[in-house]
Amino acid sequence: MGYKLSSSGMNSVLSELSREYRLFAPKSFEGMGHFSDTDLIRYGEIKSIDEIVLDKKSQFSFKEIVFPVSETLFYFTENQVKSAEEEQKKTIVFLRSCDLHSLRRLDDMYLSNGPEDFYYKRLRDKVKFALIGCRESFENCFCVDMETSKSENYSFSLDMRDGDYHVDCRESEWAEIFKVYSSEEIEVIPDYVTENKVRVSIPENLGIEVSKSNMWDEYDSRCIDCGRCNFVCPTCTCFTMQDIFYTDNGKVGERRRVWASCMVDGFTDVAGGGSYRQKNGQRMRFKVLHKVLDYKQRNGYHMCTGCGRCDDVCPEYISFSNTINKLEAAMKEVTGDGK
Ligand code: SF4
Ligand code: SF4
Repeated sequence: MGYKLSSSGMNSVLSELSREYRLFAPKSFEGMGHFSDTDLIRYGEIKSIDEIVLDKKSQFSFKEIVFPVSETLFYFTENQVKSAEEEQKKTIVFLRSCDLHSLRRLDDMYLSNGPEDFYYKRLRDKVKFALIGCRESFENCFCVDMETSKSENYSFSLDMRDGDYHVDCRESEWAEIFKVYSSEEIEVIPDYVTENKVRVSIPENLGIEVSKSNMWDEYDSRCIDCGRCNFVCPTCTCFTMQDIFYTDNGKVGERRRVWASCMVDGFTDVAGGGSYRQKNGQRMRFKVLHKVLDYKQRNGYHMCTGCGRCDDVCPEYISFSNTINKLEAAMKEVTGDGK
């Protein structure tokens, strides 16, 4: 069911929902941007609709709500282990279509790629999603070619049109709340983009033999293995473990799960002094082929959802979409088709 709401009507809805839910959305953190005097757009808790940034892309994704940057899993003493308390309140996350598709990838990795992850599941079970419509494509987005520009699995949608909020509510228990505070019942189809400036083409015949191409070599020197591309990516799910021993009693502490990056030194270190993919070009190859080759072979769709955040943040101006577009020539190089 669709509704038109004023800003104050929308705030009344959020106030009703916040009795049971924490609300997270892209918001502006003043002066925290990469350059001086710039703001950072990332996820944070909101109380009012005006705090949601609707006209810019968030630099970090919603991922940190269901997969925190650093999460204490359990506490330990010499002979006891106790799970960390779970957040009791439920959560609503406002996100765009590409990110809603990214959620499916996170669910794949944490819920069905082997045994269910206990800590992810208990957080995930408490989260509902509100879709922010996209009227225009942002810089570096390529969601259309990745088939993620449109979503239907949301609880409600949010579009701003002519100063009002238009909402399509699919959660029957919330429909009454929207109805009470709306000025009009209307038909709402969330905005979605049908074209991006950036286009990508993944070759039909892409195969693992592309690993042997020379295309990866340029990244040995261009990439500085900072890992920023992984940290902003809504579909990167790797983590490492940290055991923290308290200083007042060295036998007591906590285990934390912390985001990790396949692009940085140390990620592949193993017992006995082994370390793999030491060159940055090899790391780039591993990341790219995971996003657009082997994940699809297993799940039927690509891991990359085309949000373009990795292109937005790379300090070396390495473009993931350009890299994808080099795969066709690379396949010709390794198969000899181009000769
Ligand atoms: S690889 Fe880049 S474009 Fe693709 S989902 Fe990750 S951050 Fe977005
Ligand atoms: S953000 Fe750029 S420089 Fe940093 S690891 Fe990723 S590709 Fe390399």
